[in-house]
Amino acid sequence: MTGPRVRFAPSPTGFFHVGSARTSLFNWLFARQTGGTFILRIEDTDAERNRDEWHEGIITAMAWLGLDFDEGPFLQSALLGDHVEAAEALFANGHLYTCDCTREEIDERIEGNAKPGYDGHCRERHVPRSEHTALRFAVPASGSTVVHDIIRGDVVFPHDSYEDFIVVKSNGVVLYPLANAVDDRSMAITHIIRGEDLLPTTPKQVMMWEALNHCPGVDVVPHPEYAHLPMLVNEQRKKLSKRKDPVAVESYRDQGYLPDAFVNYLALLGWSPRGDEEIVPRSTLVEQFRLKDVSHSPAFFDVKKLTHMNGEYIRALSAAEFVDRCAPWVRPWSTQWRPTDREACWTKEQFNDELFAKVAPLVQERVATLGEVPTMVDFFFLDDVAFDEASFEKTIAGDPVGRDLLRRAISTFETVEWSSAVLHDTTLALGETFGMALRKSQAPIRCAITGRSVGPPLFESLELLGREVTLRRMHDALVRAGV
Ligand code: GLU
Ligand code: ZN
Repeated sequence: MTGPRVRFAPSPTGFFHVGSARTSLFNWLFARQTGGTFILRIEDTDAERNRDEWHEGIITAMAWLGLDFDEGPFLQSALLGDHVEAAEALFANGHLYTCDCTREEIDERIEGNAKPGYDGHCRERHVPRSEHTALRFAVPASGSTVVHDIIRGDVVFPHDSYEDFIVVKSNGVVLYPLANAVDDRSMAITHIIRGEDLLPTTPKQVMMWEALNHCPGVDVVPHPEYAHLPMLVNEQRKKLSKRKDPVAVESYRDQGYLPDAFVNYLALLGWSPRGDEEIVPRSTLVEQFRLKDVSHSPAFFDVKKLTHMNGEYIRALSAAEFVDRCAPWVRPWSTQWRPTDREACWTKEQFNDELFAKVAPLVQERVATLGEVPTMVDFFFLDDVAFDEASFEKTIAGDPVGRDLLRRAISTFETVEWSSAVLHDTTLALGETFGMALRKSQAPIRCAITGRSVGPPLFESLELLGREVTLRRMHDALVRAGV
């Protein structure tokens, strides 16, 4: 297969960061746009920060987002032999040298030096290799390394700002910059698309790549092109913080964001489709995506905008599809995947599929995430209303007029025709005798029936709930108020 070859190379960290999702998506879009190959390589060489279920997490999150890969998943830990081999070739050809300096010795020597970092002390010492020697890369003393970046143009890194960095630790561990470059070489990667935070390491990798190309017996591999994606920032324009910002993709899935909405939103982080429309189907994203159009200024990860967009995607679903998508939240006993850390609102016995199918269109218009659905509809399935106390106090317990209205509504509702239109008109008329607008007069009724002050359209809900339950709940609410 010809065409570009790209890879997504996450280090497992326990959850899937939105920044990783964006990087993964841009690689995927580029591969699909160009007819290239998308590879997943999990960089799992940091033994302390590495667990099997974390690999699973990456794969599951990518599957949820619909980012399918053509090769892999490869585990970097299985490629350690290649890394060592490359390091040996570099050493044999004089690009790496042994260093037995301790941190303390280095710090003492370099204090006050104009050039920061290691001072090249061991370059010509030829210390014999042992378990006390690390291997350092001999950075050329003069000149500079240029990173050809599709997004940023040529970025020049003068060599005098780079110390002779460690490539292999004294314990034999080959460090990430070489391991990562060696794998990119063996996988014949043509475009490296990754976060801007990695840009400072890139010149080291370009230098080592070039050096490897000059080692006899090592394949000459053309340099890839680079595309460093802009940083994601929060509302304060600070880099997204793992602790303070909601960055775990899994939690968006748990809250009921739709993968297509999430992908659509992520695509806008540093890139924009043609035209003014931001709601863009996946196929159009693929068609229009160009790396050179990616911006280099930081992109604001705006949860509000994402949520708004998700609401639009939810409203665009067919009624049947909406019901289907709600399943993990409303009938979790029937689905393979269900949101974590959520208490079921009702039991299988209390739930009623037919009723939910009728109720669903009422809430589809009103939710921004699927996770909001259960609390909006629980009053249809629970025998006891789950009261929001503040709303109960405001509309019933602490409001004598609200209670009066409820009493009058009970006697009127006993006999009227049971349809949403009639219930609406009746409540409107009743409210007028109290000098209340409908918004006001339906508040105590809504609270008595649903326990809350917001929810699906009230009169349609009452029609579905039926006269008997409605009257009983209004009565019970008055008893509950205890006056
Ligand atoms: N595994 C590294 C990281 O996640 C490198 C990624 C890359 O080169 O794309 O930071
Ligand atoms: Zn040294």
